[in-house]
Amino acid sequence: MISPKHCPHCLKRIPWRKRLKSRCPFCFKAFRRRSGLQERGVIAHFLEDRSIVFWFVQILIVTVLLAIILQVTGHPTLIRFMDARPVWFAISIYWAALYATLVGRMHVPLLLGAPKILRRERAVIRQYKRLTTVGILIGIPFALLFVGTRYTWERFPGLVFLLFVPVSLMWAYQALTLTAEDYEDERVWSYLQELGAQDRLEHRHNAYFVLVGLPLAALLFYYFMNHPWLARAINESAESGIIAMLIELWHRIKGQG
Ligand SMILES: [Zn+2]
Repeated sequence: MISPKHCPHCLKRIPWRKRLKSRCPFCFKAFRRRSGLQERGVIAHFLEDRSIVFWFVQILIVTVLLAIILQVTGHPTLIRFMDARPVWFAISIYWAALYATLVGRMHVPLLLGAPKILRRERAVIRQYKRLTTVGILIGIPFALLFVGTRYTWERFPGLVFLLFVPVSLMWAYQALTLTAEDYEDERVWSYLQELGAQDRLEHRHNAYFVLVGLPLAALLFYYFMNHPWLARAINESAESGIIAMLIELWHRIKGQG
């Protein structure tokens, strides 16, 4: 497994040729951080502090196994999709891995060397976990509603994208309800640090971006569904590829004007 860019212990930059080693070449400590909490079970220990690469590989294995099972039971649609659109398949898995990394960090926070008082659960942290679960539970029927149960696997990227839309909205809501006092609590602050939301203002900005961006994306999608000139332009372009399409669009605009 590839190591992170910086050593989690001494924070020094790891040169490329040392990236495949499991120990830091400067301080000789193992790259993977471990909380060492005794009360954590085997599965929690296995899942704590895992990177996107780890989740990407896990989800890839699960999806490939699922495709094989579907193939055996006479539903080869998923395996056909993977064969026809490998890049879109990889992007979808990466998208799911991004979310899995965050969900993992929410449910199994690191708590490195934290005194016992800091490990006590906070209301805000419980809220994060609860809203994530609710978001995913809403996401499954939400994705199936739009993708449809008949062509579920042919529309794999859409399925994965829509699955996480409610979770994104839940996290945006949560970001906007966090108060300055929440950030002053050391336990909450270290939790948000793990999630990459240590800056209150930036976290709020991202939440606004999600709350504005998602409806905007939905409107754009609705527009292009009803006015498919862009899809037609892609279809009619002589060469494949997005650059060829843009060049042809440019020629057409110039020819008409
Ligand atoms: Zn180090």
